[in-house]
Amino acid sequence: MDHPENSEEYKGIKVSSGVVQPDSVNPYFRKHRQRKPKLSASEFVEGILKGDITILSRAVTLIESLRPEHQTIAREVIEKCLPYSGNSVRIGISGVPGAGKSTSIDTFGMHVLKEGGKLAVLAIDPSSERTKGSILGDKTRMERLTAHPNAFIRPSPSAGSLGGVARKTRETIILCEAAGFDKIFVETVGVGQGETAVHSMVDFFLFIQLTGMGDELQGIKRGIMEMADGIVINKADGDNKQNAEIAANLFRNVLHLFPAPKSGWTPQVLTYSGFYGYRIKEVFNMIWSYIDFVKENGFFEHRRNEQAKYWMYESINESLKNDFYNHPEIAERLVDAEKRVLSGKQTSFEAAQDLLDFYQSEKRRF
Ligand code: GDP
Repeated sequence: MDHPENSEEYKGIKVSSGVVQPDSVNPYFRKHRQRKPKLSASEFVEGILKGDITILSRAVTLIESLRPEHQTIAREVIEKCLPYSGNSVRIGISGVPGAGKSTSIDTFGMHVLKEGGKLAVLAIDPSSERTKGSILGDKTRMERLTAHPNAFIRPSPSAGSLGGVARKTRETIILCEAAGFDKIFVETVGVGQGETAVHSMVDFFLFIQLTGMGDELQGIKRGIMEMADGIVINKADGDNKQNAEIAANLFRNVLHLFPAPKSGWTPQVLTYSGFYGYRIKEVFNMIWSYIDFVKENGFFEHRRNEQAKYWMYESINESLKNDFYNHPEIAERLVDAEKRVLSGKQTSFEAAQDLLDFYQSEKRRF
């Protein structure tokens, strides 16, 4: 194309036409982009049983998906993986933010992987909708594990209620076990919500504590102590070593105030340093001793059976609740019912009963 500046007026200046710039987006990109082939439930199961991490991740994504067609496949995959699951030791790890969970999990993980086998790290974080996943920026939080070929790290499912999030993690455990992961860590932020959920899916519940009265009392107050099979005081390094020992003694004394656990095992209190890797062996000696102990006295099996029962009821509750609240007319009627209750025209119980009666009559109609 002739450039205006090539006209006679601009003597001595010559602008060449140059090269036409290509589109910034390659029009063939879409065509060449590799689409992941859709897999059937059996193909998912086959991949999982082979230990294929990519397929395992995709199956977990289906579990987490809210789309009904994904949930249908996910259910089938879980069902088919179930006979291959159960052969792992599941360890719950809880502690307040800053207790050193991620630092410790990285160190713990490297320790157990040294003994062989495969480790999956999962999480339940009821606040994850806000923070977009508890294992926030896992890639940096657990550097060594992330790079380890035998570790699988998956952040908390983010959508839904605590019950829903926990159920998804529980189902992910099944798939991980079917994929050959023989050690599972389930992390939860110790702020009093996720612990019960984690406790209901693990064989050993490890409670990470810090020195400092505030934290210690918090743990006691929230009843987490009763759930703990082991309490560990982190950051027992440098100047903090002695404080950690003092805190450990305090916990040992406090533990005596609680009724003896059903497992017959007396929870132990240890100090360690996740960052410097001190006394990690002792922490795991405690965990493996517990596992041997409860396998011997039958409590291991009993606890897993109780958990299976718990999850059956949880699933029923979750499903009934969703069905009720997702009913379009219930949603409308709830708004009116709330107004009636707030204005004192109806009692809470009457309003609830009216809604339930309506729901049941609707169910009968279809
Ligand atoms: P989380 O919120 O429980 O996951 O805690 P992090 O693992 O992110 O740790 C919180 C802070 O404590 C970080 O600055 C860590 O470097 C530090 N930290 C973790 N473990 C230790 C430890 O064993 N000793 C010391 N001195 N600091 C630690």
